[in-house]
Amino acid sequence: MSWNWKTICKIRDDFKSGYAASTWLVEKKGYTVCSGYDWIRYKEQKVGWVKLIWKSWAMPKHKFMSWLILRNALNVKAKLYKHGICQDDLCCLCSAGQETIEHVFQTCQYVSMVLSVVCDWLCIPKPIVNGIIWVGRRKWSPLKRSICLAAVMAVYYAVWHQRNKARLEGIVLRPSIAIQQIQQCLKLRMISCKIVASVDANWLASIM
Ligand SMILES: [Zn+2]
Repeated sequence: MSWNWKTICKIRDDFKSGYAASTWLVEKKGYTVCSGYDWIRYKEQKVGWVKLIWKSWAMPKHKFMSWLILRNALNVKAKLYKHGICQDDLCCLCSAGQETIEHVFQTCQYVSMVLSVVCDWLCIPKPIVNGIIWVGRRKWSPLKRSICLAAVMAVYYAVWHQRNKARLEGIVLRPSIAIQQIQQCLKLRMISCKIVASVDANWLASIM
């Protein structure tokens, strides 16, 4: 079954929960395209990670990238290969696994290396699953959580940037270059931080 057809079937099934027998539960007047659109859009917005991304302290381009990752909307090779758009589905960064979103941002040795160094620098454990959700659930101070979220998003942005370079130019840059860029970008953002708690001040002093 094609991806398009599966999506249409999913939306049809989602709409079933808006009906009881043949009555549209959302509006007394009955179903309208407008009420249907608002209802389905509202359902989509209820996912917990939306706030994590858009209300975070990360750069807008990093937020957008992270939103695409969590929406599973990046054109990774596994997806392109399925549609006959590329010759193979191997990861551009390591050539050792199928290039899925999960592989590129969680299990690939490239992201693993970059995340390890960045997390060591921030003195936090390395996330095993999706870093955005993982950091969002930590009971850290709001400032520490914001900075760590921004760091994970910066890592994901840098990894995808390197992946595109590898795909288009055939060059895989050393993870250390990506790490340097991430740290520079975050340090610039940290300078403007408003520090309230002394625990945050000590933590920031240790990483600046
Ligand atoms: Zn890989």
